[in-house]
Amino acid sequence: MHHFSYIDGRLHAESVPLDRIAAEVGTPCYVYSTATLTRHYRAFADAFAGLGASICYAMKANGNRAVLRLLTGMGSGVDVVSGGEMALALAAGAPAGRIVFSGVGKTEDEIAAALQAGVHQLNVESEPELDAIDTVARRMGVKAPVAIRVNPDVDAATHAKITTGKAENKFGIEWTSARQVFRRAMTLEGIAVKGAAIHIGSQILDLGPFEAAFLKVRDLVAMLRADGVTVERLDLGGGLGVPYHQGDESPPPPAAYAEVVRRTLGDLGCALTIEPGRAIAGNAGVLVSRVIYRKDGITRTFAVVDAAMNDLMRPALYDAWHDIWPVVEPPAHAERPLVDVVGPVCETTDTFARDRALPPVAPGDLIAFMTAGAYGAVMANQYNGRPLVPEVLVDGDRFHVVRRRPRLEDLAALEDLPPWLAD
Ligand SMILES: *Cc1c(COP(=O)(O)O)cnc(C)c1O
Repeated sequence: MHHFSYIDGRLHAESVPLDRIAAEVGTPCYVYSTATLTRHYRAFADAFAGLGASICYAMKANGNRAVLRLLTGMGSGVDVVSGGEMALALAAGAPAGRIVFSGVGKTEDEIAAALQAGVHQLNVESEPELDAIDTVARRMGVKAPVAIRVNPDVDAATHAKITTGKAENKFGIEWTSARQVFRRAMTLEGIAVKGAAIHIGSQILDLGPFEAAFLKVRDLVAMLRADGVTVERLDLGGGLGVPYHQGDESPPPPAAYAEVVRRTLGDLGCALTIEPGRAIAGNAGVLVSRVIYRKDGITRTFAVVDAAMNDLMRPALYDAWHDIWPVVEPPAHAERPLVDVVGPVCETTDTFARDRALPPVAPGDLIAFMTAGAYGAVMANQYNGRPLVPEVLVDGDRFHVVRRRPRLEDLAALEDLPPWLAD
């Protein structure tokens, strides 16, 4: 559920009409709903309260400081995947003791920064990384709290580019070597083994793959404990999906997901962590864009809009579907001719929708790409000299620009001419 709806014929974010934001901020722009973010965080917090699980929001889904401030203010921890994200999380006020540091390629500098900050846990993804953490920790005279990420080799039945828990994926330690790696980790002076971690993929719409992975973790815990390995913590990752396609996709609610966790792992005496990203931020945001041209071709009709693949990469990257809602409510029985919705970037892949049945849109009309709150603004770039798209947070009847659009002179601010080209 989200808080974008038509009120008096205009699409609103909570109580703020999107055309008002578009007029003040310009388009394209991302608009986030505080009520939706809050509702989703609470749904997880309530569902997992009985299990004593910690929620570490995966900020790679949406790392805006205001979003982090809101969620950490409600008690959320943060899952980070780089030194940059860790610095941003700390700057947003996240306590280091609630930060989990994940990611397959932590550098020695990042490991040192994480240990210096005193993060809750580093999730180890390979043996060489385990050794690197051990080396850095010993050099600093500390013991690094780690969970070892294992790859449970289950098929999350999601898009191939966002599945992470199959043996052929780059993530985690292979299931068959897990036992030996844990045993070795116990002997390393710079390492304090806290437990195991998994993360099997993203946009998972069925509880089956989670259950299969959790049952494998359960077996692993029994095996490890028999070997004398400490398993106090289990980090179950993120991955719960969101409905991108209204009416077609119905992801399980957090309560049903929590029930699977309780049933499979609830009696092991482990402190549990979950790392939802998309399920919290996904449908808490929309990308508002204006139609520039309508191009009626012989074989197809194009709506050329002012948002592009550099602002919202998911369709170009994953063939992802985003529902498109006109900001002015169409009549109930409006005709819906097929149209291709495309951006202005010079790439054919800059296409948001092909043959989409939409109420006719005219130049100047505003549209909203729905469910754009996760993996939207965070992936934006400046391709084609397009400044990063701004972000707006709505709360009730107020809104604030929480990341401004760079000025055109900022576009080249980091560039520098070599002396032989400067005159
Ligand atoms: C991306 C990621 C998440 C969040 O995944 P969602 O599908 O957005 O819930 C959680 N944990 C790790 C380790 C990740 O890489």
